[in-house]
Amino acid sequence: MEEMISKVLIDQDTLKKRVAEIGEQLTNDYRGKELLVIGIFKGAVPFLADLIREIKIPLRYDFMAVSSYGSGAVSSGAVRILKDLDTTVEDSHVLIVEDIVDTGLTLKYLKENLARRHPLSLKIVTLLDKPDRRKVDISPDYNGFTIPNEFVVGYGLDYDEKFRNLPYVGILKPEVYEK
Ligand code: 5GP
Repeated sequence: MEEMISKVLIDQDTLKKRVAEIGEQLTNDYRGKELLVIGIFKGAVPFLADLIREIKIPLRYDFMAVSSYGSGAVSSGAVRILKDLDTTVEDSHVLIVEDIVDTGLTLKYLKENLARRHPLSLKIVTLLDKPDRRKVDISPDYNGFTIPNEFVVGYGLDYDEKFRNLPYVGILKPEVYEK
């Protein structure tokens, strides 16, 4: 697996430190509030698992799964919910946890969808942000790392469902795509 990575973009130690910083910030920002953390399957799972253990206030967490259609040239931004929340959000301050914001279409949909359920507040935390690729005007409230326009894998992010278990974020060798 490792031999298919051309470059480690963010190593394990750097990830750990940054996740701890974001956790501390969230602890301060949400102290005394009912926090509901919503992870987006599947990519956000490792980030969520590490992040919640750095948030030192009581919280609940739940998951949603979405599938996006045609994020290519003719993208309509259509997103379908594959798994919805088990819980209601009305009495909670909601924090969406994403792996990466790319075009922004997925998050725009999720934000609008969840806003209609009237949470007390609604914010977004993403591990990675690729602002160069944005198609809609949306920006995360908390961001781990701003990265260049490269396809990255690891720490939850996949290529063809693989590489999610790499402990770092890396760039794939082109030969992996060309196969
Ligand atoms: P958006 O709707 O912002 O274009 O897409 C967000 C989703 O696209 C992410 O949750 C992720 O699944 C996928 N994605 C975008 N960029 C990358 C990338 O560099 N690597 C991987 N593995 N997935 C990406």
